Amino acid sequence: MRLFEAIIDANHRALAGDQHAGLHPAEFEDELPIIALTCIDPRLNPLMPAVLGVPQDQFIWLRNAGNIITGPLSSTMRSLALACAIKGGKEIAIIGHTDCQVGKTTTAQLIDRLRELGIERHLLPDNVNEYFGTFASERQNVIKAADLVRHSPVIGPKIPVHGLMVDIHTGKLEWLVNGYQALDTMGSRWNEVVRSAGQTVDAFKSLTDFKIGEMKFPETKIGETVTKTEDWLSKTLHEMEIKQPQPAAEPTPAVPPKIPLPPPFRPRIHVLRDKRR
Ligand SMILES: [Zn+2]
Repeated sequence: MRLFEAIIDANHRALAGDQHAGLHPAEFEDELPIIALTCIDPRLNPLMPAVLGVPQDQFIWLRNAGNIITGPLSSTMRSLALACAIKGGKEIAIIGHTDCQVGKTTTAQLIDRLRELGIERHLLPDNVNEYFGTFASERQNVIKAADLVRHSPVIGPKIPVHGLMVDIHTGKLEWLVNGYQALDTMGSRWNEVVRSAGQTVDAFKSLTDFKIGEMKFPETKIGETVTKTEDWLSKTLHEMEIKQPQPAAEPTPAVPPKIPLPPPFRPRIHVLRDKRR
């Protein structure tokens, strides 16, 4: 059984009342840690990574409003790529959730809310929908995001990319996109796939100055990546004038400070029996 097969199995068994349902992380050493992209909805805080059965320290959690991927080279995609390359993430899961407000807010409502915040319509991009990547169907949004990640030239052919939905009330997982299947069928077609993704990339050239086939990155440290040639040029010129001193790295405290937490919120409690002694 592969990791996400085991995750779905354990999740469904736990919901059916099996108190011993769970993962044995030691069996999946080669497939952990996983990387998850979820919405910013705070109701997800107590659910993740508990509903997956994955230990906290094997769970790399990325979030944005609506778990939206806006393009093959978007900032979220770059974080996913670095989560694989630097943090050793082995599999990616785009996890949408039921009752997502990003999906429920219409473009007209969004424009109204922004106006209430003092942001006038003429200051926004023409296509507000496209700019924020807002969607009407949560499931379609997850499928689209998984597809964009799968075909992104910065993710590569070795990482399974899954698409899931989580029920915000019960924690039940639904597997929409099986990343193992795509990986198996893609195999030798990878170059072709990347070439077609490259055509998509061309459409983003004006935004990113990133050209597939001639990947020339300015020599900057990760974390200060610059996307526009103008930015890079002005930065370089600035650095020629002032040699910036490197700030000393803060030592990591050995023990994080302990903050007392309220009892965990459980979305659904099946049976309440007084077991107190
Ligand atoms: Zn949401």
